[in-house]
Amino acid sequence: MFRLGLIRSKPCTRCGLEVNDLEPECPHCKGFSDLQAVYLKQAYKDDLIQRNKSLAKLFCKLAVLAVIITLVVFFV
Ligand SMILES: [Zn+2]
Repeated sequence: MFRLGLIRSKPCTRCGLEVNDLEPECPHCKGFSDLQAVYLKQAYKDDLIQRNKSLAKLFCKLAVLAVIITLVVFFV
């Protein structure tokens, strides 16, 4: 049964990804060297930045569409 607050996580000190407190070691960078963990962290950051950029573009398009619809409704 799921109870709120029982599952906690914290960012891994090596790779920065979220790790369940119950895990003895990070499953993302377990077995990696420090350098590989740094590359994993950088790849994760780059992926996040890329996804946020595409999400920002989508919201800009939706905002422009909302303004156009508002103007059309206002003037028609
Ligand atoms: Zn890690």
